[in-house]
Amino acid sequence: MPDAASTTTRTVAARAVDLHKTYGKQEAEVRALDGVSIDVYDGEFTAVMGPSGSGKSTLMHLLAALDTATSGSVYIGDTELSRLSDKQLTKLRRDDVGFVFQAFNLVPTLTANENILLPLSIAGRKPDKAWYDEVIDTVGLRDRLGHRPNEMSGGQQQRVACARALIGRPTIVFADEPTGNLDSTSGAEVLKFLQHSVRALGQTIVMVTHDPVAASYTDRVVFLADGRVVDEMRDPSPEKVLERMGAIQTRAMDAAAEADDVTAGFEGGGA
Ligand code: ADP
Ligand code: MG
Repeated sequence: MPDAASTTTRTVAARAVDLHKTYGKQEAEVRALDGVSIDVYDGEFTAVMGPSGSGKSTLMHLLAALDTATSGSVYIGDTELSRLSDKQLTKLRRDDVGFVFQAFNLVPTLTANENILLPLSIAGRKPDKAWYDEVIDTVGLRDRLGHRPNEMSGGQQQRVACARALIGRPTIVFADEPTGNLDSTSGAEVLKFLQHSVRALGQTIVMVTHDPVAASYTDRVVFLADGRVVDEMRDPSPEKVLERMGAIQTRAMDAAAEADDVTAGFEGGGA
């Protein structure tokens, strides 16, 4: 009999089904994603981890409708992206998805407040006052709102970028190595903010990271290797994540060694 606690139904905020993404042609072909299926749950903080080149950024871009797959489908909520017209896609990118980049990508000539409000200004929308206050207080930048990016620390700039991603109350926020350019103290500020946005404000967030400590702020870690999902973990701790990464690495090295043996067998004609 199924255990009731383990079969709690979760609402899916985003879904990828058998995603393939190939760059280049013939000998130059790179399979960045090689059949990725993943459900991202509403109100959860999900981490995506994996070695460099394993397809993490490609997956983020496809889920956020910033790029299109070679095959497979992506859903945001119940909407399958390939069914949308260009106009509907533009609207979805604007209203339903937030993105945080490693390099902050703030507009240098605008103040923190103007940067945060920029997506809404472009859409001709005004922020919901209560939500605006909640985001600004959560991000802890009320006394910095009039500062330009070059007058703020890296951690503060990235928190501005996070607030900008959250201000329109998107269905889901994607963050690609948001702490990659930050020292550990600034990184912790950003991670605490993201975690609080999920726990207290109910925001759904997917974050790419290669740092086990960063991953430990999340509810669930999905591991990628060579363009595939190879493992996942709930309630991660830095130690558990590090151990799992080690196991994945060892498996990859064993597989590579085995492949080498096969090649040696073919090329060497056996000893
Ligand atoms: P990660 O974010 O995990 O480091 P990426 O998703 O950036 O990995 O890349 C996955 C693979 O696809 C890598 O081999 C990378 O070199 C390749 N790749 C990514 N983007 C492009 C591109 N625009 N053109 C060609 N190859 C790409
Ligand atoms: Mg990347």
